[in-house]
Amino acid sequence: MTKQIWREQSKNRVSSQDFTAINGYHKDSQKLFRLHIPDFFKSNIDFTNSFDPLLMQVMPSIDEMNILKDFSDDPVGDLNAKKTKGVIHKYQGRVLLIATGTCAINCRYCFRRSFPYSQNNASANNWSPAIDYISNNKDIHEVILSGGDPLMLSTKVLSKLTSQLKDIEHIKTLRIHTRMPLVSPSRITDNFIKWLDSITLKKVMVLHCNHPRELQAQLQPVINKLLSTQTLLLNQSVLLKGINDDAKTLSQLSFKLFELGILPYYLNQLDKVQGAAHFQVTNKQAKFIHQELLTKLPGYLAPKLVEEIPGKKNKSPLY
Ligand SMILES: *Cc1c(COP(=O)(O)O)cnc(C)c1O
Ligand code: SF4
Repeated sequence: MTKQIWREQSKNRVSSQDFTAINGYHKDSQKLFRLHIPDFFKSNIDFTNSFDPLLMQVMPSIDEMNILKDFSDDPVGDLNAKKTKGVIHKYQGRVLLIATGTCAINCRYCFRRSFPYSQNNASANNWSPAIDYISNNKDIHEVILSGGDPLMLSTKVLSKLTSQLKDIEHIKTLRIHTRMPLVSPSRITDNFIKWLDSITLKKVMVLHCNHPRELQAQLQPVINKLLSTQTLLLNQSVLLKGINDDAKTLSQLSFKLFELGILPYYLNQLDKVQGAAHFQVTNKQAKFIHQELLTKLPGYLAPKLVEEIPGKKNKSPLY
Protein backbone atom coordinates (compact mmCIF):
# COMPACT_ATOMS: atom_id res chain seq x y z
CA MET A 1 0.00 0.00 0.00
CA THR A 2 1.26 3.47 -0.79
CA LYS A 3 1.97 6.20 1.69
CA GLN A 4 -1.00 8.22 0.42
CA ILE A 5 -3.38 5.39 1.19
CA TRP A 6 -2.15 4.75 4.73
CA ARG A 7 -2.18 8.45 5.50
CA GLU A 8 -5.74 8.62 4.16
CA GLN A 9 -6.88 5.67 6.26
CA SER A 10 -5.20 6.98 9.39
CA LYS A 11 -7.09 10.22 9.02
CA ASN A 12 -9.72 11.25 11.42
CA ARG A 13 -13.05 10.91 9.73
CA VAL A 14 -15.11 10.98 12.87
CA SER A 15 -17.37 13.88 13.48
CA SER A 16 -19.29 14.98 16.51
CA GLN A 17 -22.41 13.62 14.83
CA ASP A 18 -21.22 10.07 15.36
CA PHE A 19 -21.51 10.73 19.08
CA THR A 20 -24.44 13.03 19.64
CA ALA A 21 -26.80 10.20 20.54
CA ILE A 22 -24.40 8.73 23.10
CA ASN A 23 -24.72 9.21 26.83
CA GLY A 24 -21.89 11.17 28.40
CA TYR A 25 -20.58 12.64 25.12
CA HIS A 26 -19.28 16.15 25.69
CA LYS A 27 -18.19 18.25 22.74
CA ASP A 28 -16.19 20.72 24.81
CA SER A 29 -13.87 17.95 26.02
CA GLN A 30 -12.43 17.93 22.50
CA LYS A 31 -10.99 21.33 23.18
CA LEU A 32 -8.82 19.77 25.88
CA PHE A 33 -7.74 16.86 23.67
CA ARG A 34 -8.72 16.41 20.04
CA LEU A 35 -11.08 13.68 18.92
CA HIS A 36 -9.15 11.33 16.68
CA ILE A 37 -10.10 7.83 15.54
CA PRO A 38 -8.67 6.00 12.50
CA ASP A 39 -11.00 4.12 10.14
CA PHE A 40 -10.13 0.58 11.18
CA PHE A 41 -10.63 1.20 14.89
CA LYS A 42 -13.82 3.09 14.16
CA SER A 43 -15.21 0.19 12.12
CA ASN A 44 -15.05 -2.01 15.22
CA ILE A 45 -16.89 0.38 17.52
CA ASP A 46 -20.50 -0.33 18.43
CA PHE A 47 -21.95 3.17 18.37
CA THR A 48 -25.30 1.93 19.70
CA ASN A 49 -23.74 1.01 23.05
CA SER A 50 -22.46 3.88 25.20
CA PHE A 51 -20.49 1.32 27.25
CA ASP A 52 -18.73 -0.18 24.25
CA PRO A 53 -15.13 -0.77 25.40
CA LEU A 54 -13.68 0.60 22.17
CA LEU A 55 -15.95 3.62 22.17
CA MET A 56 -15.08 4.47 25.76
CA GLN A 57 -11.37 4.67 24.89
CA VAL A 58 -11.92 7.46 22.37
CA MET A 59 -15.11 9.34 23.20
CA PRO A 60 -14.76 12.85 24.63
CA SER A 61 -16.69 12.57 27.87
CA ILE A 62 -18.25 15.03 30.26
CA ASP A 63 -16.18 13.38 33.01
CA GLU A 64 -13.00 14.87 31.54
CA MET A 65 -14.03 18.25 32.88
CA ASN A 66 -13.55 17.06 36.48
CA ILE A 67 -10.42 18.63 37.89
CA LEU A 68 -8.83 16.61 40.71
CA LYS A 69 -6.08 17.78 42.94
CA ASP A 70 -3.89 14.67 42.87
CA PHE A 71 -4.06 14.60 39.05
CA SER A 72 -1.71 16.70 36.90
CA ASP A 73 -0.61 17.54 33.34
CA ASP A 74 2.75 15.73 33.71
CA PRO A 75 1.94 12.81 36.01
CA VAL A 76 5.03 10.73 35.30
CA GLY A 77 7.64 13.47 35.62
CA ASP A 78 8.65 13.42 31.95
CA LEU A 79 9.65 17.08 31.88
CA ASN A 80 12.09 16.46 34.72
CA ALA A 81 13.69 13.54 32.92
CA LYS A 82 14.17 15.44 29.66
CA LYS A 83 17.85 15.46 28.68
CA THR A 84 17.74 17.26 25.38
CA LYS A 85 15.12 17.94 22.72
CA GLY A 86 13.04 14.79 22.33
CA VAL A 87 15.06 12.66 24.75
CA ILE A 88 13.69 11.28 28.01
CA HIS A 89 16.19 9.26 30.00
CA LYS A 90 14.82 7.82 33.22
CA TYR A 91 15.95 4.22 33.34
CA GLN A 92 19.34 2.61 33.19
CA GLY A 93 20.45 1.59 29.73
CA ARG A 94 17.37 2.65 27.82
CA VAL A 95 16.41 5.99 26.48
CA LEU A 96 13.10 7.17 25.12
CA LEU A 97 12.87 9.29 21.99
CA ILE A 98 9.79 11.39 21.49
CA ALA A 99 9.74 10.96 17.75
CA THR A 100 6.56 12.91 17.13
CA GLY A 101 3.71 14.48 19.05
CA THR A 102 0.82 13.04 17.08
CA CYS A 103 -1.09 9.75 17.09
CA ALA A 104 -3.56 8.13 14.72
CA ILE A 105 -5.85 7.57 17.67
CA ASN A 106 -6.32 9.87 20.61
CA CYS A 107 -6.93 7.74 23.71
CA ARG A 108 -8.83 9.72 26.28
CA TYR A 109 -6.87 8.22 29.19
CA CYS A 110 -3.46 8.98 27.68
CA PHE A 111 -0.89 10.36 30.11
CA ARG A 112 0.46 12.55 27.35
CA ARG A 113 -2.87 14.21 26.60
CA SER A 114 -1.51 17.45 28.02
CA PHE A 115 2.17 17.02 27.20
CA PRO A 116 3.72 20.09 25.54
CA TYR A 117 4.91 18.25 22.44
CA SER A 118 5.68 21.24 20.27
CA GLN A 119 8.65 22.12 22.47
CA ASN A 120 9.75 18.58 23.19
CA ASN A 121 9.74 16.30 20.19
CA ALA A 122 12.89 15.54 18.26
CA SER A 123 12.00 17.22 15.03
CA ALA A 124 12.18 15.05 11.94
CA ASN A 125 14.88 17.17 10.39
CA ASN A 126 16.95 17.59 13.45
CA TRP A 127 17.79 14.42 15.31
CA SER A 128 21.30 15.62 16.06
CA PRO A 129 20.85 16.64 19.72
CA ALA A 130 19.23 13.25 20.39
CA ILE A 131 21.83 11.31 18.42
CA ASP A 132 24.65 13.19 20.15
CA TYR A 133 23.18 12.43 23.55
CA ILE A 134 22.88 8.75 22.73
CA SER A 135 26.39 8.58 21.23
CA ASN A 136 27.91 10.22 24.27
CA ASN A 137 26.24 7.93 26.82
CA LYS A 138 27.86 4.55 26.39
CA ASP A 139 25.70 2.78 28.94
CA ILE A 140 22.63 3.22 26.71
CA HIS A 141 21.98 -0.07 24.92
CA GLU A 142 18.36 0.41 23.88
CA VAL A 143 16.61 3.22 22.03
CA ILE A 144 12.85 3.38 22.42
CA LEU A 145 10.83 5.22 19.80
CA SER A 146 7.76 6.65 21.42
CA GLY A 147 5.64 9.74 21.09
CA GLY A 148 2.94 10.30 20.23
CA ASP A 149 3.10 7.38 17.84
CA PRO A 150 6.41 7.00 15.98
CA LEU A 151 4.63 5.25 13.10
CA MET A 152 2.98 8.58 12.26
CA LEU A 153 6.36 9.40 10.75
CA SER A 154 6.91 8.26 7.19
CA THR A 155 9.08 5.20 6.65
CA LYS A 156 11.59 7.49 4.96
CA VAL A 157 11.96 9.61 8.09
CA LEU A 158 12.15 6.53 10.32
CA SER A 159 14.81 5.14 8.07
CA LYS A 160 16.86 8.35 8.29
CA LEU A 161 16.76 8.05 12.04
CA THR A 162 17.75 4.40 12.21
CA SER A 163 20.58 4.91 9.76
CA GLN A 164 22.04 7.33 12.30
CA LEU A 165 21.58 4.86 15.16
CA LYS A 166 23.22 1.98 13.37
CA ASP A 167 26.68 3.53 13.65
CA ILE A 168 26.51 3.81 17.42
CA GLU A 169 28.23 0.72 18.66
CA HIS A 170 26.73 0.53 22.15
CA ILE A 171 23.14 0.49 20.81
CA LYS A 172 21.99 -3.12 20.60
CA THR A 173 18.21 -2.85 20.59
CA LEU A 174 15.57 -0.75 18.89
CA ARG A 175 12.18 -0.70 20.54
CA ILE A 176 9.07 0.85 19.04
CA HIS A 177 5.98 1.67 21.05
CA THR A 178 2.97 2.00 18.78
CA ARG A 179 -0.76 1.45 18.50
CA MET A 180 -0.68 1.75 14.69
CA PRO A 181 -0.55 -1.92 13.61
CA LEU A 182 -3.73 -2.64 15.57
CA VAL A 183 -5.70 0.59 15.11
CA SER A 184 -4.64 1.49 11.57
CA PRO A 185 -3.12 -1.66 10.03
CA SER A 186 -2.78 -0.11 6.56
CA ARG A 187 0.23 1.74 8.00
CA ILE A 188 2.15 -1.53 7.84
CA THR A 189 3.07 -1.16 4.19
CA ASP A 190 5.46 -3.43 2.32
CA ASN A 191 7.94 -0.60 2.42
CA PHE A 192 7.66 -0.36 6.18
CA ILE A 193 8.24 -4.10 6.50
CA LYS A 194 11.26 -3.84 4.24
CA TRP A 195 12.71 -1.12 6.48
CA LEU A 196 12.06 -3.07 9.67
CA ASP A 197 13.51 -6.19 8.13
CA SER A 198 16.68 -4.32 7.17
CA ILE A 199 17.43 -3.29 10.73
CA THR A 200 20.15 -5.47 12.20
CA LEU A 201 19.67 -4.42 15.82
CA LYS A 202 17.53 -6.56 18.12
CA LYS A 203 13.98 -5.38 17.52
CA VAL A 204 11.07 -5.14 19.91
CA MET A 205 7.67 -3.69 19.15
CA VAL A 206 5.35 -2.96 22.02
CA LEU A 207 1.75 -2.73 20.88
CA HIS A 208 -0.90 -1.20 22.98
CA CYS A 209 -4.19 -3.00 23.12
CA ASN A 210 -6.64 -2.84 26.00
CA HIS A 211 -9.51 -5.09 25.04
CA PRO A 212 -9.89 -8.39 23.13
CA ARG A 213 -12.44 -6.79 20.78
CA GLU A 214 -9.62 -4.71 19.30
CA LEU A 215 -8.00 -7.91 18.03
CA GLN A 216 -9.93 -8.75 14.90
CA ALA A 217 -8.92 -11.76 12.79
CA GLN A 218 -8.17 -9.43 9.85
CA LEU A 219 -5.10 -8.30 11.76
CA GLN A 220 -3.36 -11.67 11.49
CA PRO A 221 -1.67 -11.03 8.10
CA VAL A 222 -0.28 -7.73 9.38
CA ILE A 223 1.05 -9.35 12.54
CA ASN A 224 2.56 -12.17 10.47
CA LYS A 225 4.43 -9.62 8.34
CA LEU A 226 5.80 -7.97 11.46
CA LEU A 227 6.84 -11.35 12.86
CA SER A 228 8.59 -12.20 9.61
CA THR A 229 11.09 -9.42 10.38
CA GLN A 230 12.25 -11.18 13.58
CA THR A 231 10.71 -8.49 15.74
CA LEU A 232 9.58 -9.52 19.21
CA LEU A 233 5.95 -8.42 19.61
CA LEU A 234 4.77 -7.47 23.08
CA ASN A 235 1.64 -5.77 24.35
CA GLN A 236 0.97 -3.34 27.13
CA SER A 237 -2.47 -2.39 28.39
CA VAL A 238 -3.75 0.22 30.75
CA LEU A 239 -6.16 -0.97 33.40
CA LEU A 240 -9.28 1.08 32.67
CA LYS A 241 -12.44 1.28 34.69
CA GLY A 242 -15.46 0.10 32.73
CA ILE A 243 -13.30 -1.11 29.82
CA ASN A 244 -11.08 -3.98 30.98
CA ASP A 245 -11.23 -3.96 34.78
CA ASP A 246 -12.08 -7.62 35.20
CA ALA A 247 -10.02 -10.80 35.11
CA LYS A 248 -12.18 -12.49 32.49
CA THR A 249 -11.73 -9.72 29.90
CA LEU A 250 -8.01 -9.53 30.61
CA SER A 251 -7.50 -13.26 30.32
CA GLN A 252 -9.36 -13.28 27.01
CA LEU A 253 -7.06 -10.47 25.92
CA SER A 254 -3.95 -12.47 26.81
CA PHE A 255 -5.14 -15.58 24.96
CA LYS A 256 -6.13 -13.59 21.90
CA LEU A 257 -2.80 -11.78 21.81
CA PHE A 258 -1.03 -15.12 21.96
CA GLU A 259 -3.16 -16.47 19.14
CA LEU A 260 -1.97 -13.60 16.96
CA GLY A 261 1.68 -14.01 18.02
CA ILE A 262 1.98 -11.25 20.63
CA LEU A 263 3.01 -11.68 24.26
CA PRO A 264 1.48 -9.69 27.13
CA TYR A 265 4.08 -7.46 28.80
CA TYR A 266 2.68 -4.83 31.14
CA LEU A 267 -0.67 -4.08 32.68
CA ASN A 268 -0.25 -0.45 33.69
CA GLN A 269 -2.08 1.37 36.40
CA LEU A 270 -3.48 4.60 34.97
CA ASP A 271 -1.14 7.57 35.15
CA LYS A 272 -2.85 10.34 37.03
CA VAL A 273 -3.32 12.77 34.20
CA GLN A 274 -5.86 15.53 34.58
CA GLY A 275 -9.06 14.64 32.71
CA ALA A 276 -8.75 10.85 33.02
CA ALA A 277 -9.77 10.28 36.64
CA HIS A 278 -12.99 8.50 35.62
CA PHE A 279 -10.86 5.63 34.24
CA GLN A 280 -9.04 5.04 37.51
CA VAL A 281 -9.11 1.67 39.24
CA THR A 282 -7.88 1.75 42.85
CA ASN A 283 -4.61 -0.03 43.65
CA LYS A 284 -6.49 -2.40 45.93
CA GLN A 285 -8.93 -3.33 43.18
CA ALA A 286 -6.10 -3.59 40.64
CA LYS A 287 -4.25 -6.13 42.81
CA PHE A 288 -7.41 -8.12 43.33
CA ILE A 289 -8.11 -8.26 39.57
CA HIS A 290 -4.50 -9.15 38.79
CA GLN A 291 -4.41 -11.94 41.36
CA GLU A 292 -7.54 -13.45 39.88
CA LEU A 293 -6.07 -13.04 36.39
CA LEU A 294 -3.01 -15.05 37.41
CA THR A 295 -5.23 -18.00 38.28
CA LYS A 296 -6.53 -18.08 34.69
CA LEU A 297 -3.30 -17.91 32.71
CA PRO A 298 -0.11 -19.81 32.02
CA GLY A 299 2.77 -17.77 33.42
CA TYR A 300 4.00 -16.73 29.99
CA LEU A 301 0.69 -14.99 29.26
CA ALA A 302 0.49 -13.02 32.51
CA PRO A 303 1.27 -9.30 32.19
CA LYS A 304 3.18 -7.59 35.03
CA LEU A 305 1.02 -5.18 37.00
CA VAL A 306 2.97 -1.95 37.33
CA GLU A 307 2.63 1.74 37.97
CA GLU A 308 4.91 4.59 37.10
CA ILE A 309 6.10 6.58 40.08
CA PRO A 310 8.02 9.77 39.19
CA GLY A 311 11.65 9.55 40.34
CA LYS A 312 11.75 5.72 40.47
CA LYS A 313 14.37 3.82 38.47
CA ASN A 314 11.91 1.39 36.94
CA LYS A 315 8.21 0.77 36.47
CA SER A 316 7.10 -0.24 39.94
CA PRO A 317 5.30 -3.55 40.59
CA LEU A 318 2.10 -2.93 42.57
CA TYR A 319 2.80 -5.88 44.85
C1 LIG B 1 8.41 2.97 30.43
C2 LIG B 1 9.62 3.68 30.05
C3 LIG B 1 10.73 2.97 29.56
C4 LIG B 1 10.74 1.47 29.35
O1 LIG B 1 10.67 0.78 30.53
P1 LIG B 1 10.68 -0.81 30.48
O2 LIG B 1 10.42 -1.22 31.87
O3 LIG B 1 12.00 -1.22 29.95
O4 LIG B 1 9.59 -1.21 29.54
C5 LIG B 1 11.87 3.69 29.26
N1 LIG B 1 11.95 5.02 29.43
C6 LIG B 1 10.89 5.72 29.90
C7 LIG B 1 11.04 7.18 30.07
C8 LIG B 1 9.70 5.07 30.22
O5 LIG B 1 8.66 5.78 30.66
S1 SF4 C 1 0.44 8.01 22.99
FE1 SF4 C 1 -0.56 5.99 22.87
S2 SF4 C 1 -2.14 6.03 24.48
FE2 SF4 C 1 -1.51 8.16 24.06
S3 SF4 C 1 -3.00 8.91 22.57
FE3 SF4 C 1 -1.19 8.16 21.44
S4 SF4 C 1 -1.73 6.04 20.95
FE4 SF4 C 1 -3.12 6.68 22.57
